[in-house]
Amino acid sequence: MNDQASKSRIYYTKPSITDLEVGYATDAARHGWGEHCYDYILRFESLFREHLGIKHAIATSSATGALHLGMAALGIGAGDEVILGDINWIASAAPITYLGATPVLVDVLADSWCLDPTAVEAAITPRTKAILAVHLYGNLCDLDALLEIGKRHGIPVIEDAAEAIGSIWHGRRAGTLGAFGAFSFHGTKTMTTGEGGIFVTGDETLYARALTLSNHGRARGETRQFWPETIGFKYKMSNLQAAIGCAQLERIEALIERKRQVFEYYRNALGDLPLRMNPEPEDTANGYWMPTVVVDRTVPFDREKLLAEFKAEQIDGRVFFWPLSTLPMFARCPQNVVSLDIYARSVNLPSYHDLTRAEQDRVIACLRRVLSGTS
Ligand SMILES: *Cc1c(COP(=O)(O)O)cnc(C)c1O
Repeated sequence: MNDQASKSRIYYTKPSITDLEVGYATDAARHGWGEHCYDYILRFESLFREHLGIKHAIATSSATGALHLGMAALGIGAGDEVILGDINWIASAAPITYLGATPVLVDVLADSWCLDPTAVEAAITPRTKAILAVHLYGNLCDLDALLEIGKRHGIPVIEDAAEAIGSIWHGRRAGTLGAFGAFSFHGTKTMTTGEGGIFVTGDETLYARALTLSNHGRARGETRQFWPETIGFKYKMSNLQAAIGCAQLERIEALIERKRQVFEYYRNALGDLPLRMNPEPEDTANGYWMPTVVVDRTVPFDREKLLAEFKAEQIDGRVFFWPLSTLPMFARCPQNVVSLDIYARSVNLPSYHDLTRAEQDRVIACLRRVLSGTS
């Protein structure tokens, strides 16, 4: 075997599945039926509420579904506008369009890659129905500024915390500060149920509305069987998925801690290079879902060359999200200069629970070679 073939492949993310997850999933498959068909779902929702420190949670089949459900519960509909950052995964914007509303794409900040509050305020119109704060790659939006703007204009702030498990804003977990929060348990995320998500809120009225919508329009307490009072959705998590989720939540602190260790190792090893990584401002914690490097504008950098080098080394590097305004279904936004400037100079580095130091060293060596021009 030559050296190349002997190198293990380094995936960009990979779930951490132990005997605990397998045991719970097996138990759910064997016994989680009939009168036990909701046991793991109820336990999962309860464990998640406890982890976040929030009153209400509805487990869903995805974060996309949780966002759709929550925005519908807020009454967002045709002709409305929802403001979000230009650099985002499509899953944050798509639910807005499902409701017939328009995603309004504004610029992001150069350090957090999240919503620029000044740009948000400038984009508010009489049609604005929500501000969607997406905590990109674990980095937190400036929630104090966004909540203040929302309050002053009477507009709810929604938190898409799909990438922000483990991120904490002044003592409160991401996802608990807005009108509602959404999380994803897709296989690439810090904790997983295979596919899955959750809607969380501290607002009793919004919870009741979302609960009815999540149950195909059947209200809690309705005594008639099969009686929907409105058109709702079917975005439920299965008991089988929830069983895996219960095990992941029992291990959540370790899962988050390991993400932080992986990030710290990269940061220490790359600190002298002309690049920036995910920030962690004072009195906050970053769950570091995805270690990301943004190469300084002052140095020549060919992202495609780095990705090709990664590929040759069996390393799975990923590009930063494209500005949504560059995609075919959205209008161009030349005014979003930060978004349009940083994405091409940025890459995500592999990060998962069982990533070894030797594997991280291979990623680091590759990156150093390309950035120093010796590759
Ligand atoms: C992964 C992700 C989603 C979508 O999650 P699904 O569970 O795949 O629907 C939404 N928003 C952000 C920011 C994400 O990273």
